Amino acid sequence: MGTPPTDDRRTTTAPATDDRFAVPLRGVAVGPETRCAHWDDPVDVIALRFGCCEVYYPCDACHDAAADHEAEPWPRDRFDEPAVRCGVCGATLSAREYLSGDSEAHRDSDSRANPDDDACPRCEAPFNPGCRAHRDRYFEA
Ligand SMILES: [Zn+2]
Ligand SMILES: [Zn+2]
Ligand SMILES: [Zn+2]
Repeated sequence: MGTPPTDDRRTTTAPATDDRFAVPLRGVAVGPETRCAHWDDPVDVIALRFGCCEVYYPCDACHDAAADHEAEPWPRDRFDEPAVRCGVCGATLSAREYLSGDSEAHRDSDSRANPDDDACPRCEAPFNPGCRAHRDRYFEA
């Protein structure tokens, strides 16, 4: 029955960036909360910045489709710089902030420092825990 009206999907390829966002961002069929053609579940709202071009993409497949070069993960020596964007509130998180609660986090038995391992620390929107399973694609080991 034709194409249903979606929530304004846009495909942006290099060297252009999507003007809806305050940060450089591009990808394939990107929605307003940065879901994309590849990851389209309610929790798929983050975009990740790549070390090669410092542009945010919803996923590595978006990078491969929309960029004109090979992807490189965000470098470890820049983990204190913004590298993850929440598509719900628009906040940018440092790689360290995003990855905290992971293996390097302290596990204080009587604290609930990380009530949700995979959620935006600003707006508490849930993030897809699967992204972390692919962290080597996005963050230098
Ligand atoms: Zn790149
Ligand atoms: Zn994608
Ligand atoms: Zn948020």
